[in-house]
Amino acid sequence: MTTLMNPRLREREYIFAIGRALMNETESPEVLGVILRAVTDLVSSKVGVIIMAEPEEQAFRVGATYGMPSSALNKFRQLVQGVPYSHGRIREALDEVKEMVKAMARETDETLQKSLGMPMYSGDTIVGAIFVFHAHQYTITDGLARFLQSFATWAAIAVKNARLYEANVAEKQRLNAIIQQSADGVMIIDQSLHIITFNAALTHMMGIPSRKAIGQQHDDILRLEHLRTEMDLSEALANGWPLQGGKHLYVEGDFRRSDGHKVALGVTYAPLINERNKMTNIIANVRDLTRYREEEKLHKTFISVVGHELKTPVAIIKGYAGTLQREDVEWPRETLLDYLTTIEEEADSLTDLIDNLLEASRLQSGTFVLDIHNDISVSSLARHIGRKFQQQTEQHTIVVDFPDRFPEVPADERRLTQVFNNLVSNAIKYSPDGGTITISGREMGKHVVISIIDSGIGIPQHQRHRIFQQFSRLDNALSRKTEGTGLGLFLTKAIVEAHHGQIWFENNPDGVGTIFSFSLPLHEQ
Ligand code: ADP
Repeated sequence: MTTLMNPRLREREYIFAIGRALMNETESPEVLGVILRAVTDLVSSKVGVIIMAEPEEQAFRVGATYGMPSSALNKFRQLVQGVPYSHGRIREALDEVKEMVKAMARETDETLQKSLGMPMYSGDTIVGAIFVFHAHQYTITDGLARFLQSFATWAAIAVKNARLYEANVAEKQRLNAIIQQSADGVMIIDQSLHIITFNAALTHMMGIPSRKAIGQQHDDILRLEHLRTEMDLSEALANGWPLQGGKHLYVEGDFRRSDGHKVALGVTYAPLINERNKMTNIIANVRDLTRYREEEKLHKTFISVVGHELKTPVAIIKGYAGTLQREDVEWPRETLLDYLTTIEEEADSLTDLIDNLLEASRLQSGTFVLDIHNDISVSSLARHIGRKFQQQTEQHTIVVDFPDRFPEVPADERRLTQVFNNLVSNAIKYSPDGGTITISGREMGKHVVISIIDSGIGIPQHQRHRIFQQFSRLDNALSRKTEGTGLGLFLTKAIVEAHHGQIWFENNPDGVGTIFSFSLPLHEQ
């Protein structure tokens, strides 16, 4: 703006410029810059600064400068920051700053002898001051003084606005961070049910990136199948939700992700109601319930499987015991022995089952500890197991095939016996037509590998991933007919892994059947 302009016009132009800056700029330095230019120009000064009091930082700061050589600026900023700050004496401190600025101004231009200061008030509080410097005494009319003071007030308003804006932005960022960091899924929707916020946990749960979800209709993104609650959000809205008092709405159901996975979700919708009693937003809190669902299912399976498995031997024992007790029959010794053997076998299988259940519960509660001894002979153990199972079956031939001088390994013998028992009994159970079952061992680097090879029904490709899961029994006719809890392989895997070994299975390359193998390290880990 040229100084040749009529002073009134100039004043008006500056008022417009400041007004525009106040409306458009959210950052205080820009507005302060415009105001400072206006003031320095209006009083025909060469150099001006705005100093701000920063109560939060307990310090003073340079808010804007005009006409000050850039070489002096840094030093000046440091000087200002060094002025002691105290709430009660801001005016005095600002006087101190003024002297400092004057000295600086004179250092750069010795003609700048005179200065003019205007405190910036926000209410009763001084938030800073505008200083300008002149070569000569400058006479200010009352009118101009009032005018300048209003500039200082605008500067104070600009600072206040900027602080409010900054606080607002910071609060928004904080809220955003809380929403984004939340371990639960959070979605915010507007009145027209468009998604406006979609956090990272939701992306993880639903497999939808937030940029794809934002802007979409709620129902197009969060569509639940197999509802376990009475209604979903749209039905609830159609039924007048939220009623007075803004009660939460809970919806539970399955969500099918685009990768085909199904997750069980529980969504709590909370309405945001404004002071005119109108709903402005809905905040949806989404929880992944898949794990709880699986646990629930496991629990149910557990009760039914265990119930069945416990009942069967008990019924057999009771049946035989009842028969033996009959007073009207004289049992031949052979029958007696036969019945008693069956009772004993059933009692043994009950004990095995109870042992397995206890182990599984120890595994889950984390109290599963191995009792490792260094010199366990796997080959003798295998031979012992082979003999034991051979006595129980005529249909199968059990071959134990270990090289001479097979190394001993560190292991928990009782647990290792359990591994053999489970694998060999499965090999027998799932080879209903009989055949050869081979237990073989070989040394491989720092491990021994034991394999149990059967020629039974095999494990179908599509069910292979389930085999080691707790209570998993494959859905084949034989599994349904044979007794079992689906605990055996789960425990076997846990025991092998606790020994730092691995377990796997493959198809028997000689045709039908399965090979289960496990490795054990030769030396303690
Ligand atoms: P179960 O008590 O049912 O035998 P497991 O955990 O030992 O439980 O085995 C889980 C399922 O894996 C079995 O129900 C069966 O379907 C399958 N399975 C285990 N071993 C074999 C095998 N050698 N051949 C074929 N299927 C097997």
